[in-house]
Amino acid sequence: MAAPVVAIVGRPNVGKSTIFNRMAGERIAIVEDQPGVTRDRLYAPAEWLNYEFRMIDTGGIELGDEPFLAEIRAQVELALDEADVIVMVTSGREGVTSADEVVAKMLYKTDKPVVLAVNKVDNPEMRQDIYDFYSLGLGEPYPVSGSHGLGLGDLLDEVVKNFPDEAAEQEDDGAIRFSIIGRPNVGKSSIVNAILGEERVIVSDIEGTTRDAIDTRFVTPEGDEFIMVDTAGMRKRGKVYENTEKYSVMRALKAIDDSNVVLMVLDAEAGIREQDKHVAGFAHEAGRAMIIVVNKWDAIEKDDHTMKDFENLIRAEFKFLDYAPIVFVSAKTGQRLDRLPQMIMDVDANHRKRISSSTLNDVIMDAIAVNPTPTDNGRRLRVYYATQVAVQPPTFVIFVNDVELMHFSYERFLENKIREAFDFTGTPIKLIVRARK
Ligand code: GDP
Ligand code: GDP
Repeated sequence: MAAPVVAIVGRPNVGKSTIFNRMAGERIAIVEDQPGVTRDRLYAPAEWLNYEFRMIDTGGIELGDEPFLAEIRAQVELALDEADVIVMVTSGREGVTSADEVVAKMLYKTDKPVVLAVNKVDNPEMRQDIYDFYSLGLGEPYPVSGSHGLGLGDLLDEVVKNFPDEAAEQEDDGAIRFSIIGRPNVGKSSIVNAILGEERVIVSDIEGTTRDAIDTRFVTPEGDEFIMVDTAGMRKRGKVYENTEKYSVMRALKAIDDSNVVLMVLDAEAGIREQDKHVAGFAHEAGRAMIIVVNKWDAIEKDDHTMKDFENLIRAEFKFLDYAPIVFVSAKTGQRLDRLPQMIMDVDANHRKRISSSTLNDVIMDAIAVNPTPTDNGRRLRVYYATQVAVQPPTFVIFVNDVELMHFSYERFLENKIREAFDFTGTPIKLIVRARK
């Protein structure tokens, strides 16, 4: 389903970022709805030959004052968890160092393919010296020069050769794929464990091809099947990098990519933070169905306004998510967790909903009758016809006389009318305005 992931690891200063930047296309920025917010860049789409893949930027996991060994460890753990192919970078200028040996040793325990690059081999004479690198026990060393762009083709040939076989990928057979995202400590693992720990829920891990079992398939007592995306990391805990903000954002982005329905968890005790908005914005832009889950509802003092007040706060802070239903739960007491499967099925059904053109056009024409189309310099917007062109998310094309005449506010009005007429709870919908020739 998702493109393979490549991670670059190695001790500091060998040229990882230089190689990353050479291989990567433009990096994906986190979408935010406010200008001026720093854009974290974590993933980069890349391609080689006919292969599309994604590169994780494992650099810059910030661990404060931790020594660089801890930083390398975090980087390697991340690569081991997330990547399909790992590129270990060393430097031909310095030769094999003890830090290289430490990195190599961490990589021995994985059965994921590791490709060894010897960087800073800027001229052909230096190629003699790379044989020492066989001693790292990671197979053939590939000489490259990140700064001169040499040897990267051969390296990439080897990388793509090791991508998992698409044919071997697991079929989803109707199970709903969803993910649970949110900042560290909001209670994601607790929710996962509460759902999967329920006695009558039947759990089976999905064995990936080269990945560890990352997703979890389960069946509810009602017989409904779900695949919880990227659960492995939440079930076995205690990795160094897990609670870094950068990592948690990255994990969320990947989980969003891989799922149809996203459960965004907020912490009732801690309130709403900037990072919550970044990630929610990305899920919205990606067109995923979404449920907002407010956890730790047991932990706060409540009166009869508390729930409504919290809901108002969420609506004000996440204006673009006005379609997402909100549920207040406690992973600790289990309160309302039993509602989640049905909610996931409902928003998933809305996300896949198809509206016939005739019904859709009735709704649009009725809307126009109530609120006539805008005019500009005496010219009036004419809406000829609307039709649904896609699902997940539902996407509608509206044919008009002149695209310029369609104002944002009128588009919004039409979207609201569509939402009033059909239940699209939990899913974004897209309107595309086209001029009819
Ligand atoms: P990182 O810490 O592993 O990400 O390393 P960087 O990509 O930041 O590079 C460290 C230093 O090595 C920088 O000064 C780069 O300019 C330099 N460098 C990177 N690639 C090459 C190369 O192929 N040849 C030479 N001579 N220097 C390089
Ligand atoms: P994650 O980092 O999002 O996976 O969060 P965890 O599941 O590890 O939970 C973080 C902390 O919040 C732990 O100390 C949990 O015991 C606590 N916690 C999780 N859910 C609840 C809840 O519903 N109520 C209360 N009171 N504490 C919770």
